Amino acid sequence: MSLFTRAISTSYHVFKKYSTAQLLSHSLKMTSTLLNSNVWESDPELFEIVKKEKQRQLKSLELIASENFTSLPVLQCLSSCLHNKYSEGLPGQRYYGGNEYIDEVELLAQKRALEAFNLNPEEWGVNVQSLSGSPANFQVYTAIAEPHGRIMGLDLPDGGHLTHGFMTATKKISATSLFFESMPYKVDPETGYIDYDTLAKNAKLFRPKVIIAGVSCYSRALDYKRFRQICDDVGAYLFSDMAHIAGLVAAGVTPSPFVYSDVVTTTTHKSLRGPRAAIIFFKKGVRSINAKGEKVMYDLESKINQAVFPGLQGGPHNNAIAAIATALKQAQSPEFIQYQKQVVVNAKRLASGLQERGYKIATGGTDVHMLLVDLRNVKLSGAKAEKILEDISIACNKNTVPGDKSALNPSGFRLGTPAITTRGFVEKDIDKVVDFIDRGLKLALEISAKSGPKLVDFNRLAEEDSSFKGKISALRKEVEDFCVQFPLPGVADY
Ligand SMILES: *Cc1c(COP(=O)(O)O)cnc(C)c1O
Repeated sequence: MSLFTRAISTSYHVFKKYSTAQLLSHSLKMTSTLLNSNVWESDPELFEIVKKEKQRQLKSLELIASENFTSLPVLQCLSSCLHNKYSEGLPGQRYYGGNEYIDEVELLAQKRALEAFNLNPEEWGVNVQSLSGSPANFQVYTAIAEPHGRIMGLDLPDGGHLTHGFMTATKKISATSLFFESMPYKVDPETGYIDYDTLAKNAKLFRPKVIIAGVSCYSRALDYKRFRQICDDVGAYLFSDMAHIAGLVAAGVTPSPFVYSDVVTTTTHKSLRGPRAAIIFFKKGVRSINAKGEKVMYDLESKINQAVFPGLQGGPHNNAIAAIATALKQAQSPEFIQYQKQVVVNAKRLASGLQERGYKIATGGTDVHMLLVDLRNVKLSGAKAEKILEDISIACNKNTVPGDKSALNPSGFRLGTPAITTRGFVEKDIDKVVDFIDRGLKLALEISAKSGPKLVDFNRLAEEDSSFKGKISALRKEVEDFCVQFPLPGVADY
């Protein structure tokens, strides 16, 4: 009997045997298995994978600078009933009914967004509907640069983000370079610091509509005042993308971009430790006084809100908006400020610890939550370092360093402390991390000496040579035994 005929014959038997009322309750029960069983019962195949990921997170040393472990309340909001609701439009102006509570949630998120960054609602407005950092940035350019408008951002190999207009000599990679005209600025290859003087000169030639102050791999505080002067000289908007540092800004441990910017975006899942989402802030009120002495007002509010919806998005993710609200409540607590202070202390300790062991740190150190290790003096590629560290359960990513010749074969790797600091790492634990990294890199050098320069040969030797395999797995066990002592927030096994 095929599955189909068996199903029919079963329902026929059921039909004959039971009354209508019984049948109805039976069918409700049938659907409720689908609707109300736990995922570990309804889909063990998938759930096994999720559990394995949880174990990986528990055992490994998470040093990817953009990652964090979000809180239980954030996870609870994400899996709440708010997920079910359509609410296109803004609070009080929705295209659907039944949004009275959704409006309350979004208004609360907006209010807390302004509070968390000490903003006056007369001067700043906010949109909390953006789905993530990249769409938020595209929404900003759509609002204020217009098609083919000119933008200038820090080049990707120098520490900028893809969405700051990245393209190569032969290809427009990010849609932000395809639909807008972008020209990058760079860091000084010697010092690793942003070359503001060249940016100022090029801005006068390129005359951009928007200059972006924001980084994904840069360990120093940005000079927002200088950015403002450069923008004022050419009449550009200053758009700060604080995705990486938002948590530090909220806690007041790094300079705030709001003092000088016209628009600010942030992701909410990096140092801010909220859900995967983004926020766009825009300036309101008087923008400037013209030659006739008249006030020129900002007109960003409707442009940005319309670029988000209906321009580039449909229904907001209300579960994420609630999670933003609760993450921003946390961001105003003394415990969060203490956490961010520790993030920076840990990053500085990590930098100095590695320096003491002979590693070079780009710019000579860090002011924030991340650092860039420059491996050129130890003669190891970023890719080999990343590979061996991954093998010993240390997660980080290879990265170009200032002055790198090839973007395809970067000479360094990026490290960040937000995630391990959430797990409770303090200075003495960082010393242990330094030791693990140093031993991993020394092992990589040993393998590299035997394999030669090619990554494929290096990987093969690491995977096949029994002596190297043994050393890798012993070190991996040490790292994992160390990590499991530190708790992870969230649900116990998923
Ligand atoms: C991570 C990041 C983004 C993009 O965020 P996604 O949520 O990954 O799209 C944008 N700008 C900067 C500076 C970032 O670091």
